[in-house]
Amino acid sequence: MDFKKYFPSQYKPNKNQEYILEELNKAWNLGKKYIIINAPTGSGKSIISKTIAQSAPDISATYRDFVDSGAIYDIEEDDVPDSLKEGTAILTVTKSLQDQYKKLFPEDTMLKGKSNYPCSMVPTLSSDLGPCVFEPEQKELCISCGQCEYFLKRDEALKHKCSFYSYSMFMSLPPACRAKRNIIADECAELEDLLVQSYTVPFNFKILKKLNIEIPPTPTQGSNYEKYILWLRSAKASIYSTLVEKRKEMRGKDLKKMSKEKKLVFRAINIFNDSCDKVLDIIDNNEFIIEHNKEELIFKPFKVDKIAQRLFKHCDLVVLMSATIIDYKNFAKQLGIKEDEYYYIESASTFDPKKAPIHLSNFLSVSYSNKALVIPQLCKIAKQICENYKGKKGIIHTHTFEITEAFKKAVGNNPRFLFREPGKTNEFLINEHIERNDDTILVSPSMTHGVDLCGALGEFAVILKAPFLPLGDERVKRLAQDDKEWYTNKMLGACIQMCGRTIRNASDEAVTYILDGTLTKSLIQNKDKLPKYFLERFV
Ligand code: SF4
Repeated sequence: MDFKKYFPSQYKPNKNQEYILEELNKAWNLGKKYIIINAPTGSGKSIISKTIAQSAPDISATYRDFVDSGAIYDIEEDDVPDSLKEGTAILTVTKSLQDQYKKLFPEDTMLKGKSNYPCSMVPTLSSDLGPCVFEPEQKELCISCGQCEYFLKRDEALKHKCSFYSYSMFMSLPPACRAKRNIIADECAELEDLLVQSYTVPFNFKILKKLNIEIPPTPTQGSNYEKYILWLRSAKASIYSTLVEKRKEMRGKDLKKMSKEKKLVFRAINIFNDSCDKVLDIIDNNEFIIEHNKEELIFKPFKVDKIAQRLFKHCDLVVLMSATIIDYKNFAKQLGIKEDEYYYIESASTFDPKKAPIHLSNFLSVSYSNKALVIPQLCKIAKQICENYKGKKGIIHTHTFEITEAFKKAVGNNPRFLFREPGKTNEFLINEHIERNDDTILVSPSMTHGVDLCGALGEFAVILKAPFLPLGDERVKRLAQDDKEWYTNKMLGACIQMCGRTIRNASDEAVTYILDGTLTKSLIQNKDKLPKYFLERFV
C-alpha cells in the first residue's frame, strides 16, 4: 500500500504529513489492525483521515443492494459477514467537528442523530419524536415510500465511500452498519470517557413510579450487584409488556388528538425500554458500577476494553488519532488492544515551541491535607501573573469550584475576571470574553476541552492545580486503585488539553504557567510518556 497516492489532490502534503504517510505504509505492510497516531493540533489530521478513506475500494453494488433492501439492518452482532466491511466511517466527538469535516470535504456524507432531522410526516416534530415512535408500522411505511429524511440520510451515509458520524450516532447503529473497511477515531484520547458516558444509564425514581415499575432496593452493606441485575431484567420484562399493550391501544387512532400527557408517558416508556436494552445488551461481558442516590439508580460501565472491541469488531483497519495521547501503551490496553495488534506513530509539531513556553513551578505543592493553606497562596501568585499581563486576555484553569471561589476571594470584585459560577455557563463567559474589548480573564474549572482562545483571546494561561479526577467517583476510585498509571495519565492528559487552549494556530503566541508543584513533579517524572512536541514547550 502506498497511502501517498490517495492524498487529496487539492492539497500538497507537508513534512509531517509525509512522515505520517510513510509510517502508515509500514503499519499497513505489517498487517496491523490498529494504528495509533499522536499528532499535535495543526498537523492536518483531517486530510490524513481523508487519505485513508480514499485508499478503500469503492462501495460495491452488492453492498448497496444490501442497504436498499434493508437486509443490513436485520443482521445480529455475531452474524455480520466479513464481506460487509466496506467504506470508511470517520468518527468525531462533537457535531461541530463533524461539520468541519463536511466543510472540508463537501463531497462526502454526514449522519447526525435523529433529533437533527425533521419528521416528514409531522414537520413540527423531530424524527426522534415522530409518529413512528408510537407505531412501528409507520416506520416501515415511511421507509418503503422513501419519505423519511433521517432514514434516507442513514442509507446514504452507509452507501457512501466516506461518511462522518459522531461516536454516539455510530455506536447506536445496528451491528452490520458498523462493519467498515476503515474506522477513523478522531480525538480518540476522549474515547474512554465517551464510551463510559454512552453506556451510563440513569433510572429516575419519579419516572419509575409513573410507569408502575418497582423501585429498586436501597443498597445495604456488601454486594448488591446481582440484585440490581435481577431488578433490571424484571423491569425490562414489565416495561416491554406495557409497551406492547400501549401500541395495541393506539393502533389506528389519530395521534394528533392524543393528549400531551399521554404522549409524554409513551415517550417515557420507549426511553425506559431502550435504556434497559442498552445495559442488558452488554451486561454479560461487562461489569457495571451501580450508583444509587436520592433521585436515581445509575448503571455505569467499569472498564471499556470490551465495549471498544465491540465497536471495532467488524472493521479491517482502525486508526486512532489525537493530539493528547499519554502513554500509548496504557491507552491501547484500556481499549483492549493487544501489544502486537497496533502500530504507533508520533508526529512533530508545525508550531514554534518558543512562541508557547510553559513555565513549571516547584515552589508550592498542593495535597489533600495542605490545600486550605496552599491554595490561597497559589491564588495570590496567579493574581500577580494577571497583573503582569495588563491589557492582555487570558485564562485561569481552577480545576474545582472550590478553587474558583478561593481565587475570587483573592482578586475581589474585579470586573476583569469572568468567573464560572452558578447561573453562568462556560458558553456565556466565552461570549462575553470575545465581545468585550478590554483585558478580560476567564476563570473556570471546566474549560479543559473544546475552548479555542486563539490570537488575542488568550495570551497567557495559568494552571492552578493538578487536574486529578475526583476520587469521590466510585469508578475513578476503583480504577485508580487498580491501575495508578491510568489515574496519573488521565491527569496529564487534562493538563496537555489545558496547555493547548491558547495555542490553536501556528501564529498564536501565549505563555502558560503551571503553579502546582505536584503537577510539575508529575510532568517531569512522566516525561517518557508525554508527546515530544509538548515537552519542547517547557522552559
Ligand atoms: S419514519 Fe416517518 S414518522 Fe418516523 S420520523 Fe420518519 S417520517 Fe416521521
